[in-house]
Amino acid sequence: MKNKRIGIIGAGPSGLAQIRAFEALQDQGYAMPEIICFEKQDNWGGMWNYSWRTGVGKYGEPLHGSMYKYLWSNGPKECLEFSDYSFDEHFKKPISSYPPRPVLFDYIQGRIKKSNARDYIRFDTCVRWVNFDEDTKKFNVILDDLKINKTYSEELDYLVVASGHFSTPNMPYFKGIENFPGTVMHAHDFRGADQFKDRNILLIGSSYSAEDIGVQCYKHGAKSVTLSYRTNPIGIDWPEGIKEFPLVTHFKGETAFFKDGTTENYDAVIMCTGYQHKFPFLPDELRLKTKNNLFPDHLYKGIFFNQLPQLIYLGMQDQYYTFNMFDAQAWVARDFMMNRLTLPTEAERRLDIDRWLERNDQLEGSLDNVDFQSDYIKDLLSLSDYPHFNVDRVAQMFKEWLQDKEDNILTYRDKTYQSVVTGTVAAQHHTDWMDELNDSKERYLYEAEEEEMISDRI
Ligand code: FAD
Ligand code: NAP
Ligand code: MG
Repeated sequence: MKNKRIGIIGAGPSGLAQIRAFEALQDQGYAMPEIICFEKQDNWGGMWNYSWRTGVGKYGEPLHGSMYKYLWSNGPKECLEFSDYSFDEHFKKPISSYPPRPVLFDYIQGRIKKSNARDYIRFDTCVRWVNFDEDTKKFNVILDDLKINKTYSEELDYLVVASGHFSTPNMPYFKGIENFPGTVMHAHDFRGADQFKDRNILLIGSSYSAEDIGVQCYKHGAKSVTLSYRTNPIGIDWPEGIKEFPLVTHFKGETAFFKDGTTENYDAVIMCTGYQHKFPFLPDELRLKTKNNLFPDHLYKGIFFNQLPQLIYLGMQDQYYTFNMFDAQAWVARDFMMNRLTLPTEAERRLDIDRWLERNDQLEGSLDNVDFQSDYIKDLLSLSDYPHFNVDRVAQMFKEWLQDKEDNILTYRDKTYQSVVTGTVAAQHHTDWMDELNDSKERYLYEAEEEEMISDRI
C-alpha cells in the first residue's frame, strides 16, 4: 500500500474529508499511503474560504468562491455535524443552530488542524488535465504551480475529484437583457447585500440562492425584492417587500416583462439560476456529466465512476446533507483505495446505480428528497467504519427545518436543535437573526459574554 499514490483535487470540505479518512485509519495503526491534494486557492475550506474577489483569482484562474458577506448556515448545523468531531469538542460550549460562515469555517478547520493534514496539500496548484493510461492503469495529472508559473505532472494510482459543483454559473439569456441599464450578475458573483440598499432588485430562480440572497437584501435594506420562478415558486408567505412572479419573458430597458403579463422596473437583476458541473481538467470519457440532482448517473454508491472505479467523485450530489455526507463518502472511498472494500462487478454496480436512479425519478418534493438522501447516507454508513449517527433523527430535523422556513423565512434561523453526536441542545444566539448585521466570529462567540462582563463591572 505504501507505494500507492493517491491524488485529491480540491481541499474543500470533501477533499479534507478524504484526508481525514486516511488519518483516522492511521490513528488505528495503518500506514498512510502517499497522498497529494491539489488546491488552486491559497488556503483550504473550498466555498467556506471566502473571497472578496469576483471573476478571477490572484493568478487569473476562474474564481471558485460563491459565498458572500453575511452568509449564515441555511440549515441547522446539527444536520451536518462531523460524527468524529463534534461542535462541543471544537467550541467548548453550546452555540446556536445557524452559525455564520466564519464560524463554520473555523469548525471545518478545527478537525484537521489537530493533524498534519496541511502537509498533504499543495496550495496555489491548479489541475490542468488528466490522462489515464490503459496499459499502466495510472493517471497522469498535469499541474500548474501558479506561484512560480511552472507546469509539471504526477503519476497517480487513484484520483479523487473533490472540486465542488457550485462554482461555474448557469447563466441563461433573456431577450433584451443586454440593454438592461442596471447591474446584471450571477449569484456566484454576489458578495453582499450592501450595494442593493434602497434598490429594487429582481432575482431569477426559486431555490436556495434566490431565497437567501432575496432575504439578505431585504434584511440589509433593499427597497423591494422580486423572485421570478421557472417551474415552481418557493411559495411561502413572504413578508411585505418580497414577492414572487412567474418567469421573465424579456426586458425592455429597465422594465421586466413576466409570463403573467405583469411588468415592473428594476435597478438590478441577479441570476440565481444554479451552477454547472464543470471539469475542464477531465477528458470527455472520464467526465461526470450531470445536472444538479440527488443521484448523478454513472457513480456507484454516488462516488465510484463505474467505468473506472479508480476515479472517485466526492460531493457531486445536490445537498441536504453536506459535511457528514462527504465524510461518509470519503470513508468508503478510502476503504476501497486501501483494499479493505471490494467492489462488485461493473454489471452488478450498474444494477445498483439503476435502482437508485429509479427511485430518484419518483421523488415528489422535499420530504421525499430528505428520505432519499437519508437512505443513501445509511447505505454508505453500512460500508465503512465512519462513526454511525442517528440518521433518522437528522432526517426529522431536516423536515422540521423545512417547516420552520415555511412558517417564517425571517425567523427560522432563531430556532435551536439537538445534536445527534453529543445530545447537546443548541444555545439561543444572543441576537435575533434579523437584527444581527455582523457575522464575525468574535461577535458571534464572545459579544454576549463581553456585554455581560461589562454589565457586571458596572
Ligand atoms: P467546494 O467547497 O466547492 O471545494 C472545492 C475545492 O476544489 C475548492 O477549494 C476549489 O478551489 C478546488 N478546485 C476546483 N477546481 C480545481 C482545480 N482544477 N485544481 C485545484 N483545485 C481545484 N452547505 C452547507 O452545509 N451549509 C450552508 O449554509 C451552505 N451554504 C452555501 C452557500 C453557497 C453560496 C454555496 C455555493 C454553497 C453552500 N453550501 C452550504 C454547499 C457547499 O458547497 C458545501 O458546504 C461544501 O463547500 C462543498 O464542499 P466540496 O469540497 O465538495 O466543494
Ligand atoms: P440550485 O439549487 O441548483 O437551483 C437552481 C435554480 O435555478 C432553480 O430554481 C432552477 O429552477 C433555476 N433555473 C435554472 N435555469 C433557469 C432558467 N433558465 N430560467 C429560470 N430559472 C432557472 O442552485 P442554488 O439555488 O444556487 O443553490 C446551490 C447551492 O448553494 C445549494 O446547495 C445551497 O444550499 C447553497 N446555498 C446556500 C446558501 C446559504 O444560505 N447558506 C445560500 C445560497 C446557496 P427550476 O426549478 O425551474 O429548475
Ligand atoms: Mg433543487
